[in-house]
Amino acid sequence: MNASIRFLGADRQVTGSKHLVTIGERKVLLDCGMVQGPRRLADRLNHELPFEPGSIDAVVLSHAHIDHSGSLPRLVRLGYEGPIYCTPATADLLAIMLADSAHLQSSDARHLRKRGRAFDPAYEMVDVDRTLRLIQTIDYRTPQEILPGVQVTYLEAGHILGSAQVVLDLQEGGESLRLGFTGDLGRKGTPILRNPDPLPPCEVLITESTYGDRLHPTHVAVEEQLREFLVKRQSQPGRILIPAFSVGRTQNLLWYLGRLLRAGKIAPIDIYVDSPLSNKTTAIVSRHKDLYDPETKAMLDGGHNPFYFEGVHTVTEVEESKALNKLRGGIIISASGMCEGGRILHHLEQTVDRPEDCILMVGYQAEGTLGRKLLEGFETVKIFGEAHLVRCKIEHMDGLSAHADYQELLDHLTPQVGNAKKVFVVHGEENAAMKFVGRLEAAGFQNVEAPLFKESYPLRD
Ligand SMILES: [Zn+2]
Repeated sequence: MNASIRFLGADRQVTGSKHLVTIGERKVLLDCGMVQGPRRLADRLNHELPFEPGSIDAVVLSHAHIDHSGSLPRLVRLGYEGPIYCTPATADLLAIMLADSAHLQSSDARHLRKRGRAFDPAYEMVDVDRTLRLIQTIDYRTPQEILPGVQVTYLEAGHILGSAQVVLDLQEGGESLRLGFTGDLGRKGTPILRNPDPLPPCEVLITESTYGDRLHPTHVAVEEQLREFLVKRQSQPGRILIPAFSVGRTQNLLWYLGRLLRAGKIAPIDIYVDSPLSNKTTAIVSRHKDLYDPETKAMLDGGHNPFYFEGVHTVTEVEESKALNKLRGGIIISASGMCEGGRILHHLEQTVDRPEDCILMVGYQAEGTLGRKLLEGFETVKIFGEAHLVRCKIEHMDGLSAHADYQELLDHLTPQVGNAKKVFVVHGEENAAMKFVGRLEAAGFQNVEAPLFKESYPLRD
């Protein structure tokens, strides 16, 4: 069978997901993610895509996160005119996320130009609009032929709204082969989302490995951690600032806070959600009730909205955001989650030197980010180029991860031992990916590889 796969991103790292599947003459790109990280390298990789854009026949997206979708407008700008497949909820999220990405790039470009440095955005809003016109949606669990001999089935991944595992059924030279791609796999019991669907028997697997070397606390422990933190803080003066990713994390926090409030486990508190992207995302999540897990559906049936409840304030205007500077209590949830941009920076500027205030870190903080520095207890940090003494309290909570840990990944994949002839481990830092390769081998898998950037493999030997 003449079919191969080439790994073009998220290889022993976590950003820039791109995997190119070639079946005879047909080429399908699985994900088209943007590379995030040190600017110079990221810029180069995001400008020069590692393949000929016009040679692709179809793009199949797993989910809307920018590290899986953010290079689509670049692909279109460079000449791609074919279909882009995704689930309907992913299509809704893409519209706001790609626009946000274009907007961030143009404001970066303006900012850098002022400092005398040139920066050419990878794309602009006009490219985003052209990209959105190429989108074709496929519902979950509904096989669809996208090219002769190439069928796509989306299965729930439980990672963010609309996220999917991708099953490709390929026909070539009278033979058939099934490839399963986990995309980013969520955790069972994640608020709002359904649990990941099991994969059907697959001959080739591509699995993520973000936490190939880590275990998470249970969800019950997360809710209890949050309750304990809030009960303790509510007896003290000062406000709580939570940097949170706009997609997923913000909605999950609201979901937990609503539950704690309704159960009377914490005292009433004002919660300000101050991020345009977060608030747009929450509006999309609240439209897709069909995708909720049974617990969240029951919440709705009981007359409780998981995101908009007493005490929640949606902040939109800049003036309203500035007015929060006067706030001396309550919770502000803002983005970006790693404190690298967005309104959170203005709130941090107002918060870090106030001993009575507290910053609650709830997400992964990549090396070099302001969030990481706060988490690691730096005594001074730079915000908008100015040094600030850190005098507020910094607390940390884990377990809110949107990615399965290694045991959850293994539980998901081990039913495939015996079916899978090849396993490719992607989307994990070097250490996590290599440890997970070892764990898969120990579980009985053969031909397990963590491919390097631009490596190709036949799908069948
Ligand atoms: Zn993701």
